[in-house]
Amino acid sequence: MRKNRLKQYSLLGIITLLFVSMIAACSSTPKNETTEKKAQRPIIVQGPMPIEAENFAKKLKNVKEEKSGDFVFYIGTLNNYPVIVAKTGKGMENTAAATAVAIERYNPIAIINQGTSGGHDPSLNVFDIVLGKRTVNLGSLKTADKAKNQGIDPTVWKPMDLMASAGSAGEDPNAEKPRFYEGDKDLLAAAHAVKDTYTKGKVVDGTIGSADVWNNEVDRIKWFHTKYGTSVEEMEGASAAQIAKAYDVPFLGIRVLSNNKVNGGKYNPNTAASNQEYVYKVVKQYISTMPSK
Ligand code: SAH
Repeated sequence: MRKNRLKQYSLLGIITLLFVSMIAACSSTPKNETTEKKAQRPIIVQGPMPIEAENFAKKLKNVKEEKSGDFVFYIGTLNNYPVIVAKTGKGMENTAAATAVAIERYNPIAIINQGTSGGHDPSLNVFDIVLGKRTVNLGSLKTADKAKNQGIDPTVWKPMDLMASAGSAGEDPNAEKPRFYEGDKDLLAAAHAVKDTYTKGKVVDGTIGSADVWNNEVDRIKWFHTKYGTSVEEMEGASAAQIAKAYDVPFLGIRVLSNNKVNGGKYNPNTAASNQEYVYKVVKQYISTMPSK
């Protein structure tokens, strides 16, 4: 009788144990799988020139280099999280292609395009940093309608939004506006959180304008500043933003002023390294906030 009771108790014990471990397994397995899957999607940090990418690449651990065309991908880790630095080369075409290749190859969770830029806002100085709340293509323009010998008049050119419709942008009055790409709010939040650690200048939210053009005419710079609200210009951000948007990948442009024609700020290449130091902190911050997403 007593023996039977003992047997019953131990059977009950085994069943309870099995039950509890089953519940534990059910509730923890899917959660682990999702975090692991997310954890494997890398953050991509793009830089156009060697001075704008290699400093960051040197900060990564376990680096493996891969090439595609002229693009170099430094595949490594930061705080055990996968981060890829992409040296894209200068300009819109290189950057658009490098962005598409990186998305197809590495399935990134986010993309940061960073580097140097020229000031459009007179209140910004060399070494200040602009977080691209918005990014816009400054080379997408429609000229005035003029016949032979009527000349050229860039001040009446209109912005042209190539993404307005699938039809002809030249004929579509709805396309006569700039197309702004919004900076991702979580990336912006990470950038804001470490803003005060940057001591070489201020860090502000702003609008980054891009085109394969280096503008040195102050009146033309002012024209963009007024019409598009640009804080700075460079040659890459908007093309990366456009492709990131096409694939629905969160994007942010982060640009340091290396020069500012509007207030006499002379070109300083050391700004590129300072920007990478700041972006490194942004990425670290972004990684640290990831499990809660
Ligand atoms: N002065 C540099 C040239 C850089 S070429 C040199 O001689 O090495 C342009 C690169 O710098 C691009 O990648 C672009 O994003 C960035 N850039 C910095 N300031 C710029 C400006 N005022 N206008 C356009 N691009 C600028």
